[in-house]
Amino acid sequence: MKWAVIGASTIAKEWMISAIRATGGEVAMLMSSDKSRAERFAREASIESHSTDIREICESKVISAVYISTTNELHHPHAMACLNAGKHVLCEKPLAMTLSGAAEMVRTAEQKGLSFGTNHHLRHAGTHRAIRKAIHEGQIGKPLSVRVNHAVFLPPHLQGWRINNAAAGGGVALDITVHDADTLRFLLGENPEEVVAMTQRGGMSSHDLEDGIMGIFRFPSGVTAQFHDAFTVKFAGTSLEVHGTEGSIIAQDVMTQKPIGNVLVRTAGGDMSLSIDRQNLYEHAVTDFHTAVRTGCPTNASGEDGLWSLASGLAAAESAKTGSTRKISIG
Ligand code: NDP
Repeated sequence: MKWAVIGASTIAKEWMISAIRATGGEVAMLMSSDKSRAERFAREASIESHSTDIREICESKVISAVYISTTNELHHPHAMACLNAGKHVLCEKPLAMTLSGAAEMVRTAEQKGLSFGTNHHLRHAGTHRAIRKAIHEGQIGKPLSVRVNHAVFLPPHLQGWRINNAAAGGGVALDITVHDADTLRFLLGENPEEVVAMTQRGGMSSHDLEDGIMGIFRFPSGVTAQFHDAFTVKFAGTSLEVHGTEGSIIAQDVMTQKPIGNVLVRTAGGDMSLSIDRQNLYEHAVTDFHTAVRTGCPTNASGEDGLWSLASGLAAAESAKTGSTRKISIG
């Protein structure tokens, strides 16, 4: 399958181009808004052609799929142009700046019979697949609560629009909380119904953007899930714990892009380490997308999953802004 990559981005360079190639795809074109950046990026990534005009992708007879990793405000226009041209779309999170924009993308893909995926990599991690299986097998009884520690340090080369450009979709809620929400939905098998949160400006972000957030999602089963997301925490590492009536799952280093981390199940019988598949998360995600295009089955991280994570991230930000608990719904 021939792909176009829209966005001369870090995630494309560091993870996604190699993931597409490793799973049998070919990256045929790179698009950037800037000609010299397009040229340099394409040369360094050995991509045969580049463009600053999305029409070249839309009109191409050979490109059947696009991966979109521009800044957040551009996901919607880029995805809509490609979907209307009949291309399958794998889009970065958050799908759009508004729920209605994201819903339009998902609806258009459905109407046109195209595959549409949200690049929520964490549900493709062996660690999270193992945690999900343990929960669904009843190893910890009935889940009661979850704690997600996803407060990290934003590396200097990414300290740009995320911390200083609200119009581009900056801020920690749209960047990290959306991943937490998707991971929680994946692990628990239910949708969050409400959230309460407080944000922080911890010295990295500027203007009106937050660089830290703490909050609690509540799920219909009664599970409460506490989350802490930040760009400013240098040394903590990440973790996730699920506590149930019969035991706890304790996972270290699992809110990450790398296939690392360990998962322990602790019950009255003692501690048991789960065996983990160490496949590259992004390769797992692109393999799934290729399968979806080939078979017409939904992607594992679908458009609807992207709608739920966006709704959750927006509701968390709104809760912090208004000082009130916010309901979560995709309309
Ligand atoms: P980057 O900041 O690296 O790239 C975003 C855009 O910035 C590019 O598309 C590019 O625009 C522009 N850009 C790149 N370099 C420069 C420069 N030197 N000067 C001016 N503009 C520049 O973003 P990320 O790769 O970190 O994130 C991109 C998207 O991917 C976001 O939506 C983010 O949320 C998502 N993401 C998802 C992850 C996941 O695991 N699912 C992980 C990381 C990010 P142009 O294309 O026009 O050249």
